[in-house]
Parts: sequence; structure tokens; C-alpha cells
Amino acid sequence: MGDTLKDLEYFEKISRNLEMTTHQKAEADKVVFDFAQNFINNIPNQKTYEANGYDPDNFDAQIGLNEEAEDISTLLKNIDEQSFKPGLNPTGGTYLAYIPGGGMYASALGDYLAAVTNKFAGLFFASPGSVRIENTLVRWTGNLLGYTGSFGGYLSSGGSIANLTAISTARWAKKLKGKDYERTVIYLSEQSHHSVEKAIRLSGLNECVVRYLPLDEQYRIIPSALAEMVQADVWAGLIPFMTVANAGSTNVGAVDPMDAMAEICSKYNMWFHVDAAYGGYFALTDYGKNLFKGIEKSDSITIDPHKGLFLPYGTGIALVKDVKALREANEYQASYLQDTEGFDMEYSPAELSPELSKHYRGLRMYMALKLHGVSAFRAALNEKLLLSRYFHTEVQKLGFNVGPEPELSVSIYRMNLGDLEASNAFNKALSLAIQYAGKAYVSSTTLNGVFWLRCAVLSFRSHKVHIDILLEELKVHSEQLKAQSSF
Ligand SMILES: *Cc1c(COP(=O)(O)O)cnc(C)c1O
Repeated sequence: MGDTLKDLEYFEKISRNLEMTTHQKAEADKVVFDFAQNFINNIPNQKTYEANGYDPDNFDAQIGLNEEAEDISTLLKNIDEQSFKPGLNPTGGTYLAYIPGGGMYASALGDYLAAVTNKFAGLFFASPGSVRIENTLVRWTGNLLGYTGSFGGYLSSGGSIANLTAISTARWAKKLKGKDYERTVIYLSEQSHHSVEKAIRLSGLNECVVRYLPLDEQYRIIPSALAEMVQADVWAGLIPFMTVANAGSTNVGAVDPMDAMAEICSKYNMWFHVDAAYGGYFALTDYGKNLFKGIEKSDSITIDPHKGLFLPYGTGIALVKDVKALREANEYQASYLQDTEGFDMEYSPAELSPELSKHYRGLRMYMALKLHGVSAFRAALNEKLLLSRYFHTEVQKLGFNVGPEPELSVSIYRMNLGDLEASNAFNKALSLAIQYAGKAYVSSTTLNGVFWLRCAVLSFRSHKVHIDILLEELKVHSEQLKAQSSF
């Protein structure tokens, strides 16, 4: 026993270092907050892409874990060099690639407080207020998209997991049987996000028949084609199970005709899922609300606050029209959680999702919305719609061909040199030249064998001046490339 007490004393002395002293905290706060302010102030001067920042030779020495403690300044310097600097820098206004990231400061403060308080936001019993805040955000988002009554949902880590949640709920709600999988049909757009296919596989539905619907010139599903395909499948003895619409496809921002699709799904008793990961929050604008007509008739929706609400990565939402279906697909029982039973004034994230102990991710969304007010987000989204139209007009003046007028905030464009192969090579070279120059960042896509550049506007930091920088880059680099004999 004497030894035990002595050992305890020994280990306690060391383990107490895990609580920082007031002085250590003050020092660390200053270093970290100074760094963050500097980082933000410096965004306009930073390259959007740093190809050479990574220093693999020193990675282990700088980043490897040690028995000994390291001081905060050295630590931050190493993280900055090896992690923050290299690669893409999606925080700035000229990052116009993929679906741009956000990273609102108010959300960082929310994350900070969520971590310090470490509220257990998985169960109502454990933190009723935290769960209520998250459910308030889910209800607000659902109402925005026209859901009313007994819908439910949960804050996921992103759109991929929200798609997985929705699709596994659909499988459960439609009571699919393994022996029927080979006869079960899922209808997707050719423009469906790959996370939908991933979710189908992860839900064990890989043996189902997946049909890709033909699209109109604006890359939208043609409802009559869906109706014909489904009817043909019914006649052939197959089981139409689910259709997925895009409310803003990633490639071109196309919005499928959800009203007409909902009617077909209802007629054939199919689950209707809408992937609004990218586009969903445009419903805050009058234009978007109108464009998304019919979304409220869906059975489930995926939407990403880390896209349309400019939050840092790690926040999606899965919405299900009938909360009971979501609950049945995810409910659980565990004897060690018996103390938590009976506190069911609100659904808990743990009963509506695969997660139990989870990050209190609601706070990053809640603090941003409350500190700025919803009207600021609405204005920013209206601005993004206009910026995208502005770009679409201006880029044509530089001699580029464009795709359809953007329905949301993604435009596609390309320099057409006549010959397809030469044009594809030219546009590819152009995108690389702009990426490596680091003033603006654009990505590309291939549609029916044609290489297109994309301009996706969704950062809260993107304003007219940033679109003008991209236009200038396109002008300078396309002239330079044309001057080279190879094109
Ligand atoms: C981004 C996106 C996803 C995937 O969401 P993550 O948050 O990246 O997991 C799914 N669908 C669409 C349409 C998207 O734009």
C-alpha cells in the first residue's frame, strides 16, 4: 500500500501537467490567436496553391511525436510549415474551385467553446440544451426547404455521411430484402455526386440495378425519361426503389425538376432523395426558393452548412421527412446507457444517426448564424448568384465559350480552338498555368469528352474584385499559351 501511494504521488505530479496553468494558457492563447489574426490578415497575399511548401525531408523531425513536451511557438511553426502552408489554400476569395470552402471566424470560436466545455451533444439526457440547439438548426434548415411537421435530421460531418444516412434510412423504410436486391432499381443523374454511389455501396445495395438518367442541355434530369424507365422496369418485374435529384449538381450547379420527379416517385412508391449538399442554402434567397420548387415533396435531403453557410469543413445535415423512419433505421439499446432512458423530450442525435459520442458541431453553426444574423448570409448568397452571372458574361468577352447560364453559382467555360483534342489540351494547360501561378484557383471537369474549366463561387470572401482577378488571369495566361507555338 505504501508503494501504491508513492506511485500515485509520482504519477499525479506528472499527469497534473495536462491541466495548463493560467500562465501557460495565457501564453498559448496569445501565440495561437496572434497566429490566427496574422493568417486571416495575410489571406489576400497568400498563394491559392502552394506546390512546393511541403518539406518531406524534415516532416518526421518536425512532426513526429515525442515523450517530451514542446513549446507552443515551436509547435505552431512546425504545423504551419508542414500543414497550413502546403497544398490548396481554400480560405481566400480567389479560391473558385470544386465547391469553395468557408471557414468563418465565428465558427472557429464556436468550435473552441465546444471543445472547452466538451458538452456531450449526442444525448438529450446528457446535454439537453446542446441537443436542443442542434435540433433548432435542423428544424430551421428543414423549414427553409419547405419541410414541416414531423421531419427530423441530424448534423453530420458532411454531405457524404448525410447521403449515407438518407440512403440507409430509405433501405430500412422501404423494407428491402436481400433476396430482392438484384431486382431493385435506383435512378441517378449522370451528374450525381460520387458520394451517392459510395453510399449505395456502403449501405450494402451494390447488387441493386443503378440506372443513369439522360439529361437535357442544362444537365438536368428529364422527368419523362424517368417515368418511361420506371414504367419499363415495372413491366419487366423489377422493383423501382429510389430516385436521387440534385438541387445544385457539383459539376455545373444544375437543379433537377424536383416537382415533376416527386410526382413520379409518389406514383411508383419510390423513395425520393434530394442531394442539396452544394445548393441547398440558396433557398435563403427568393430566387433559390423558387428554383427548388418540389424539394419539400422529397423523402430526404442532404445539405451542407460547410458549403452554403460558409462554415469550416465538417458540417453537413441529413433531413428525413418522416423522423420515425430515421429513428427506426438508427435506434439502439445498450444496458450501460439505461440511465439515459425516459429523457425523450427531444430526439437525440444518437438515435437519429450512426454516431454516439460526437463533436458538438451545432455550436459552430449556431454562433455564426447568431453573431452575424441570417440576413447577412442571405445577402452573401444573393451576391454569389450575381457574381456567377457576372463571370459568365465577362468571360465570353475574353473569347471563351460558355456552358448554360448558371442556375446557381457554378459556370463552365472553355477556349474553343476548333479541334476538340487541341482545345482540351489548351484548356488543361490553361488551368494548370493559373493554378501554379497561385493568384486564383480554378478546377475543371469533363462533360461528354469535352474538357471544361469551372468557376464555382461560394466563399463568403469572394467578391467582385476576386472575380476580376480570375478574369485577368484567364486573359493573361490564355494569351501567353496562344503565343506558344504548340497551340
Ligand atoms: C460536396 C458534395 C457532396 C459531398 O459532401 P461532403 O460534405 O464533401 O462529404 C455530395 N453531393 C454534392 C452535390 C456535393 O456538392
